[in-house]
Amino acid sequence: AIRVEDLHKSFGNLEVLKGVSLTARQGDVVAIIGGSGSGKSTMLRCINFLETPSSGKIVIGGEDVAMRGDGTPANQKQIERIRTKLAMVFQQFNLWTHRTLLENVIEVPVHVLKVPKAEAIARAHELLNRVGLGGKEDTYPAYLSGGQQQRAAIARALAVDPSAMLFDEPTSALDPELVGEVLTVIRDLAAEGRTMLLVTHEMKFAREVANHVVYLYQGRIEEQGPPAEVFGNPQSERLKQFLSSVA
Ligand code: ATP
Ligand code: MG
Repeated sequence: AIRVEDLHKSFGNLEVLKGVSLTARQGDVVAIIGGSGSGKSTMLRCINFLETPSSGKIVIGGEDVAMRGDGTPANQKQIERIRTKLAMVFQQFNLWTHRTLLENVIEVPVHVLKVPKAEAIARAHELLNRVGLGGKEDTYPAYLSGGQQQRAAIARALAVDPSAMLFDEPTSALDPELVGEVLTVIRDLAAEGRTMLLVTHEMKFAREVANHVVYLYQGRIEEQGPPAEVFGNPQSERLKQFLSSVA
């Protein structure tokens, strides 16, 4: 489970997150929607401590992340442990270009988590199979389509056996015909009860896989609720406008 309470984040004078609170329980799929610049990526990055929150409280898997007054994590070891529990998948696949797919998938298990190499390799084969990339183990990312690279990035994220996954617009860099294959993988992960936070522009997909939808507007949660409510019966004028602009 992930719990965020009253999260604030400023970059210099620009206050990007103005007190965001949300909870994802075990098995929840929380979709985060909102216009460009509303703070969606910043929120995910704060949860993973890729950005340092300015203030607020973050609890991951029952573990309260100790923060100093200025939001800096008090304990770097704890941050490293939490990062291995939260796998993040980015818009730009972020695979290591000089490593094969297999090497990409085993890197963190072997070098950070100290999983025996043979075990990590066996698991990597399973995961690559699972995302439809069986047989591509020795291929370098540059030889793959965007959809294949993103599926490899998902396999790599799964390799740490994360307790929750954070997706930041995982399909928005893809050609339209490649979006479906990546959504299929994410849909399967949701169906098996993975906890996830998913920033997406794919409203139809959010409606289908999420059990909770959060609409961010200028760094605040403007509206949230079950997808049928948020999409089917939006209350806020801003949300109504947003939904008609992306439809
Ligand atoms: P998009 O849909 O375009 O991805 P977003 O909702 O993910 O938008 P963020 O990337 O979180 O938005 O950015 C929110 C605001 O914070 C923007 O105004 C952005 O310019 C600003 N911002 C983000 N990262 C930084 C940074 N490292 N330094 C300064 N400003 C930043
Ligand atoms: Mg973003």
